[in-house]
Amino acid sequence: MRAPFRNEPFMDFNNEWNNKLYDAALSGVEAELGQSYPLVIGGTKIHTERTVNSVNPSRKRQVIGVVSQADTELAEQAIQTAARAFESWKHTEPGERARYLFKAAAIMRRRKLEFSALMTLEAGKTRAEADADTAEAIDFMEFYAREMQRLSEPQPLTVHEEEENHLDYIPLGVGIVIPPWNFPLAIMAGMTTAAIVSGNTVVLKPASTTPVIAAKFVELLEEVSLPPGVVNFLPGPGQEVGDYLVDHPLTRFISFTGSRDVGLRIQERAAKTQPGQRWIKRVIAEMGGKDAIIVDNEADLDLAADAITASAFGFSGQKCSACSRAIVHKDVYDTVLQKVIERSKKLVIGSPSHAEAQVGPVIDDKAYRKILDYIEIGNSEGRLVLGGFPGDPEGYFIQPTIFADVDSTARISQEEIFGPVVAFTKAASFDEAIQFANNTDYGLTGAVISNNRAHLEQARRDFHVGNLYLNRKCTGALVGTHPFGGFNMSGTDSKAGGRDYLLLFTQPKVVSERF
Ligand code: GLU
Repeated sequence: MRAPFRNEPFMDFNNEWNNKLYDAALSGVEAELGQSYPLVIGGTKIHTERTVNSVNPSRKRQVIGVVSQADTELAEQAIQTAARAFESWKHTEPGERARYLFKAAAIMRRRKLEFSALMTLEAGKTRAEADADTAEAIDFMEFYAREMQRLSEPQPLTVHEEEENHLDYIPLGVGIVIPPWNFPLAIMAGMTTAAIVSGNTVVLKPASTTPVIAAKFVELLEEVSLPPGVVNFLPGPGQEVGDYLVDHPLTRFISFTGSRDVGLRIQERAAKTQPGQRWIKRVIAEMGGKDAIIVDNEADLDLAADAITASAFGFSGQKCSACSRAIVHKDVYDTVLQKVIERSKKLVIGSPSHAEAQVGPVIDDKAYRKILDYIEIGNSEGRLVLGGFPGDPEGYFIQPTIFADVDSTARISQEEIFGPVVAFTKAASFDEAIQFANNTDYGLTGAVISNNRAHLEQARRDFHVGNLYLNRKCTGALVGTHPFGGFNMSGTDSKAGGRDYLLLFTQPKVVSERF
């Protein structure tokens, strides 16, 4: 018996000793920068001629690793290999599959700082954000391993006197896992291990900006002796390799986390039956958000300002759970706006290699330009009250940016920016605030800061998001505690880190024997 699941504790970076340990871990990772990372297909490492450099978004000239790139031929090889491996992996006992995850979680826990430090360099995560990412990766493995054990127990069925009935959750087949760069360890590892612990085999196409942390995770799977071919590592260009994998007739499901555009493209392509295809492909997609924090007129305004500041600017707003809209009751609007400006002004922007940095860079040049374009748009849609400019050109830094007096239908209130930009909108009443909050295509997270019980109850009922937080920030979902995923254009209503999640990677088979 394993102990019941518990969330991995976070490190305390107010503690000097922890910062020293982190500095040492950064030096260790830095000493290894610039290595080559191959594809891994069926346990074989393949170095390709075509490579891409993964770079540090805080220091564009620093190369984190040189990563081989697949083409369609290698993609074909990866799918065929995964399909072959499935024939034996699907018969591996669920308990054994779970133990690979427990072992990987145990090793990751021992090497936590190393994984986190690599994310500080490759993804531009501050210490606290990187530590939370590694903790969540550990949580996903611990949680899904236990979930598979639970699902493999006899499932409750109505008793039939003359029969023996049994329900088994059996795997689907070959899955394509396409994770995002913003939780480059947690979500990547969570998506991958959910698929394999359920008995599927995987072609993992890592995010193009964070392939090295994914490669390190694949090395870890090798270290725990996961059989070759169960996870095949296939970095490569999205349109070319991604489309090929999605379209392939042997692909049984696609598990995707990323932008709405790519998610919908996958959904559309997966819906088309290919010659030789024998199933309806399943798509599990977690897409964007345009998340709002509502502040009521009866509320703790300091709590509101803390929640907005943390949710809007943590990891430079690059979370699909990030607060990109603050919808504030007119009676307290000016006060809350002022408090958020004061707090945000004090945020230290800089390379997250430094302990004091609170806001790091955005991920790459494309994101940088897109966010600056939205700031341009914001200038014509609202009143710029903070930021609005890039930071140190050494990296992709953008100052925390606040626009006030933005209409709820403005582009910066409707379109996902995925950067450190928040729009303040004034609401005449709580009813109107809820109406504004619901008025987007998305429905991922939301928060309400209020001391009015009737309003909190109204929000529980009417605020249409997958993860609603009352009197707290809207980021930082914990595995098992806050199963995570949203409605409408935010995805396929799946809940990562929840008790329904593994069902998405399985199909229930019922055997009834009459004696
Ligand atoms: N689960 C994360 C959170 O609650 C967000 C995940 C994402 O951005 O994809 O903040």
